[in-house]
Amino acid sequence: MRRKLVVGNWKMNGNRQTVLELLGAIGARTARPECDVAICPPFVYLDLCERVLSATAVALGAQDLSEHANGARTGEVSATMLADLGCRYVLLGHSERRTSHGECDETVARKTLRALAVGLNPIVCVGETWDERMSGRTYDVLSRQIRVVADALTESEHFMSFTVAYEPVWAIGSGVTATATVAQQAHAFIRQCLARYSATASQRVRILYGGSMKPDNAPELLAMPDIDGGLIGGASLDAQQFLSILDAAA
Ligand code: PGA
Repeated sequence: MRRKLVVGNWKMNGNRQTVLELLGAIGARTARPECDVAICPPFVYLDLCERVLSATAVALGAQDLSEHANGARTGEVSATMLADLGCRYVLLGHSERRTSHGECDETVARKTLRALAVGLNPIVCVGETWDERMSGRTYDVLSRQIRVVADALTESEHFMSFTVAYEPVWAIGSGVTATATVAQQAHAFIRQCLARYSATASQRVRILYGGSMKPDNAPELLAMPDIDGGLIGGASLDAQQFLSILDAAA
């Protein structure tokens, strides 16, 4: 019922040459992908990527946006600019932004509304740290992170273009992946949290897994009933690995 979505989060990596090489390798193999595919390059390469990807089935996404409207905000990038550049998705609340840029749940909620207001699909990242998991607070953290954003969604159709990425902080870039069972439990819990708002919407919202997803663990993770795709960091910088993950999602 839910079409899978695989998103490459390139983070702060690459240059014009590697961007073109990577897009060439991915675009050549994704003419008719059996799942939705998106790439989130750094802001400065969005335009370059859009020129290449507009002729393909691969969608464009950004890694963040400003919570403010256009104006005197030096260094920021607005939702309207991303929509103007042809973005369809935007990552919000990634743990790297929560940790190193002090983004709180309320900031993530405001950014989510900015994205939805211009027709972008927000991919809201949630996830617990290792300490939170070890002290039995995983579900408290997840329900708070989901609640603050879902409370801010004022219209039921917002849920139709809203995606969640479960990214346990301890699994990101660490090479340690949540087992498929641990991930499935968290995904099912997130869906239950969303069902408090709308049972129908909770069945439609895609919940992606992120955190050291690689070709060897992707098939097992993506076979879980509540795992609707992946948010891929490191492995999205290697065309062969990213394509293998797409195959696993097909
Ligand atoms: P990783 O990153 O796949 O390198 O763990 C995932 C992410 O941070 O989105």
